[in-house]
Amino acid sequence: MDKGCENINTDLAQLSDLLHNSKYAVVLTGAGMSTESGVPDFRSKEGWWNKINPATVASTSALEHNYDLFRDFYQYRIKALSQCKPNTGHKILAEWEAKGLIKCVITQNVDGFHKAAGSKNVYELHGSINSIRCDSCGKETDVQNFMDNADCPVCKGKLRPGVVLFGESLPEDAWSKAIEEIRKADLIIVIGSSLTVSPVNHLPFITKGKKVLINLDNTDLDSEFDLIIHGKAADTLNKLNGIMKTD
Ligand code: NAD
Repeated sequence: MDKGCENINTDLAQLSDLLHNSKYAVVLTGAGMSTESGVPDFRSKEGWWNKINPATVASTSALEHNYDLFRDFYQYRIKALSQCKPNTGHKILAEWEAKGLIKCVITQNVDGFHKAAGSKNVYELHGSINSIRCDSCGKETDVQNFMDNADCPVCKGKLRPGVVLFGESLPEDAWSKAIEEIRKADLIIVIGSSLTVSPVNHLPFITKGKKVLINLDNTDLDSEFDLIIHGKAADTLNKLNGIMKTD
């Protein structure tokens, strides 16, 4: 066995122990959780923000002043997402919640994959791309209306996805619940996040418990974690699940 392989096995064994011994484990996920489903993240080499400036498409300013481009961007993402599905990692987290190994998933993702995989306690801090509403009157409507370039059927306002845009605040309910969960946690596992988006990147450090990061690339906050596993989310969770079952 090479040294790298040995290290990862030791790290996985350590995380398995942490999970088994924790009473309140909470998971926080980012875009890296879904790249193995074929959904690009934002800040990796292949991520969106290397191709496009977020302020031009995913902001309140784009919604207000550049609606056609805003709508094109989200139509493209909704269409691309419809061809992807939750991966093994999402399914393992749902299984762990059902077994009581983790209490909830707090996510920055807007793809809805945690719920689709069967996780029940999910806090979507950046909303959901598939819930479409009118930006003026708030009335919810079918995704297809947005895809067909329709206006709001009630007031003719602009339709938009229920995601948190640059320039908007996070949904209060999900945010306060997430803080409450992390305060109770004795273990937090962050998966697939560059930890650059505020305020979510502060969340892991609210806990008094252990902090673990599973991420492909280094982040500026790596040194704040008790354990770091550099690897792919689904692949790592799959290996970990194998160890947990044999423990
Ligand atoms: P980010 O793009 O800033 O960072 C993603 C991180 O995940 C990177 O550090 C990268 O190294 C890592 N990563 C990539 N593939 C991985 C894999 N297979 N396994 C483990 N790690 C992997 O993403 P973020 O920190 O979540 O940034 C937040 C913003 O991105 C949020 O606003 C979120 O709404 C949005 N976003 C969501 C989706 C989605 O819903 N799937 C997709 C793209 C962006």
